[in-house]
Amino acid sequence: MPEPDIVVIGGGPVGARAAALLAEAGRQVTLLSLEAYQPYNRVKLTPLLSGDVQFGEIAVPQTAGQTPNLAVHTGLRATEIDRKSRVVRTADGQIWPFSKLVIATGSNAFVPNIPGHDLTGVYTFRTAADASALMARSISARRVVVIGGGLLGLEAARGMQRRQAEVTVIEHEGRIMPRQLDAGGGALLAARIEEIGVTVRTGVAVREIAGDARVEEVRLADGSVLPCDTVIICTGVRANIDLARAAQLPIGRGIVVDSRMRSLDPDIYAIGECAEHDGLVHGLVGPGFEQADVAVADILGQGAQYDGSIPATKLKVIGAEVFSVGEVEQLEVRPGVTSHIWEETGLYRRLFIQNARVVGAIAVGGWEQASRVQNAVQQGTLIYPWMIRRFRRHGVIWPDADDDVTTLPDAATVCNCTGVTCGRLRDAIAAGATTPQALGAATGAGNVCGSCVPLLEELVSAGGPPKPVRLFRGLLGLSLIAGLVALALAALPRIPFPQSFDADSLTVWLWRDNIVKQWTGFILLGLTVAAMIIGLRKRLRFMDRLGSYDWWRMVHLAIGGLAALGLVAHTGLRPGANLNLALFVVFTLTLVMGALAGLATGGDHSLRARRIGTARKPVRRIPTWVHIIAIWPLPLLLAAHVLASYAF
Ligand SMILES: Cc1cc2nc3c(=O)[nH]c(=O)nc-3n(C[C@H](O)[C@H](O)[C@H](O)COP(=O)(O)OP(=O)(O)OC[C@H]3O[C@@H](n4cnc5c(N)ncnc54)[C@H](O)[C@@H]3O)c2cc1C
Repeated sequence: MPEPDIVVIGGGPVGARAAALLAEAGRQVTLLSLEAYQPYNRVKLTPLLSGDVQFGEIAVPQTAGQTPNLAVHTGLRATEIDRKSRVVRTADGQIWPFSKLVIATGSNAFVPNIPGHDLTGVYTFRTAADASALMARSISARRVVVIGGGLLGLEAARGMQRRQAEVTVIEHEGRIMPRQLDAGGGALLAARIEEIGVTVRTGVAVREIAGDARVEEVRLADGSVLPCDTVIICTGVRANIDLARAAQLPIGRGIVVDSRMRSLDPDIYAIGECAEHDGLVHGLVGPGFEQADVAVADILGQGAQYDGSIPATKLKVIGAEVFSVGEVEQLEVRPGVTSHIWEETGLYRRLFIQNARVVGAIAVGGWEQASRVQNAVQQGTLIYPWMIRRFRRHGVIWPDADDDVTTLPDAATVCNCTGVTCGRLRDAIAAGATTPQALGAATGAGNVCGSCVPLLEELVSAGGPPKPVRLFRGLLGLSLIAGLVALALAALPRIPFPQSFDADSLTVWLWRDNIVKQWTGFILLGLTVAAMIIGLRKRLRFMDRLGSYDWWRMVHLAIGGLAALGLVAHTGLRPGANLNLALFVVFTLTLVMGALAGLATGGDHSLRARRIGTARKPVRRIPTWVHIIAIWPLPLLLAAHVLASYAF
C-alpha cells in the first residue's frame, strides 16, 4: 500500500495549485483527479473552444511530472473518505492513506430538469471533455441555443458563433450576467453582443427542449419556438460534496470550513468551489487560489487565515470589457447603500457607496481606473463628495492625471485570478523580469484568464519603480525656503510695536499707518484666496486647461512663502489675543504644514529618482492632510477678523 503524506482529491486549478505548492515545500503528495486529462487551466476552456489556444497551452505545468514528490493519477475517481482508517478509496479498488487530506472536488455543471435535456445534441460546458465535444459538434452545428446568459453561457455562445453557427442566448432573468451586472450594464453588454451577431433574449424561461431523438427546437415560456440543432446548457454549477457528505462532514451549499480551510475534521481541508466559508461558496478561481494558499500554509504550520474574498471580475466578455467588484446583486437592494451612474455612448459605470466607502462597482466598455476601484473596495478607501461629483460628471473617481499605472499602490491586486499585487510585480521587475511573460513566470500573474496582461505590459514599460514627478527638485528647494520662513514665524520673537512716531521708520509705516495696515491685510487676504484656489487645482477639471499641475504646485508654494512674509508685514509676529490669536495660530500651522507637505513630496520623489526606497507608501499624506484640515477654519476666522477690524 502506498504511503503518501498528503492526498488531494480533485485536479482542477485549485487542487492542482495546492498539490504543487505542497510538493514544492517538500511534502509527499498524491493528486487524485477524475478527469482523464493532465490538470489544466479550466478558465482557458473558453479560448480553447473559440480556437484561440491549443490544449497543450492550457495544461498546468507544475503537475506535468517534473516534481518527484508529486504523484498525479488522472482518470481516477475517489469513491470514499474513510475518516476512521484515514484512507481514501478509489474506483479501481486502491486505498490511499493520508495524514492530511485536501478536498478540491469543485463543481459540476448544473442541468435543470427541463423536458428534453437528455436529447442528443444537448451539451454542457464545464470540462475539457465538454469543450472537445462542443468543438467536434461545431463543425456541423448551424443553429445553437445557449440556455443561461451568465459569463459561461456568453463565452460558449461566442465560441460557437466564431465557428459560424447562428447563436441565440436565453436568460430567464431580466438581464445577462445577473450576478455581475445591473440592468443598465446588462443592456449595454447585450447590445454589444448583438452587434457581433449573437441574439440575446432576456426575461423568458425555457419550457422544453424538443425533438425526435435529437434536438430540433427549443420552446420558450412566452410561446415562441427556436429551431436549432444544438443546445448548450450553462445554468450554473453545483458543488461536488457527495464524498464529504458520505464521510459525515458538515455541508451546506459546499463543505463547511473554518478560516484555516479545515472541515470539522482538522486533518481534512476543503478548498475551491466545493468549499463553503462563512456561508459563501465562490464560483471564481481567484478566491479558490487564496483558499489553497491558506490551506497549504496551515498544513505546513506557517499559520494563515482566510477572511473571505470580495468577488472581482475583470474580463473581456465576447470582446466587450466587463468589470464588476463586490456583491453587486445584493448591493442594489442593501439598505444604506447609495449608487451613482455615469454613461456615455458605449460606456456604462456604476459605483456603490456605503458609509462614504466604495463597496462595489460595475463597468461595461472599459475603465482605466478599474484596478484602483477594485483596490479601493478591498481597502475600504474613503470616497469624498467631490470624488462622487467627479464620477457623476466625468466617469472617473480620481483626476485623469492620476491614472498612470505607477500610481497604483503596492496593495492593489493586478491579477484577480492569482491575487498577485502591484507590489509583488514591482519587486519582480526590480529583480529582472522585464517582459510580461517573465513577470508571469516569476509571479503567476496573467497565466490564468490573461485579462491583466495589458496592465503587466504597462508596469513593465513603466520600468518597475514609480517615476518622480516633474520639477521635484524645484519643489524641494521652494518647500525648504517656504518651510524656513514659516518656521521663523513660529519661532522668532515678536517685533515690538513702535512707540515713537519717527516718520522714517519702516515699523511705524507698517504698523502705525492705518492705510498701510489695511493694504498689507488685503494683500495677505488676496494671497490666501489665491493659494486656496490653486490648492483646488487638482479637484477642478476646468483648470486643466490652465497648465500642468506640477507648475501650479510651485506657484502655490511660492504664494505660501509670500504669505508668510505678508504675515510678518501685517502683524510684526504679534499674535494678538482671542480671535486674532486663533487666526495667527491656524495661519501659521497651515503654512508650516504646507511647507512640510511640499518637502515630503519633493523628498519622496527625489528618492524615487535615485531609486532609493520604494516611495510607494508616501509620508507626505500626514502633513498634506493636516494642511488641508487646518485650512477649513481659515475663511471663517479671516471674515471675522476683517469684520472686527472695521467694527472696532
Ligand atoms: C469555461 C469556463 C470559463 C471560466 N472562466 C473563468 C474566469 O474567467 N474567471 C474565473 O475566475 N473563473 C472562471 N471559471 C470558473 C473557474 O474555472 C472555477 O472557479 C475553477 O475551475 C474552480 O476550481 P476548483 O479546482 O475548485 O474546481 P474544478 O475546476 O471544478 O475542479 C474540480 C476537479 O475535481 C474533480 N473531481 C470531482 N470529484 C472527484 C472525485 N470524486 N475524485 C477525483 N476527482 C474529482 C473534477 O473532475 C474536477 O477536475 C470558468 C469556468 C469555466 C468552465
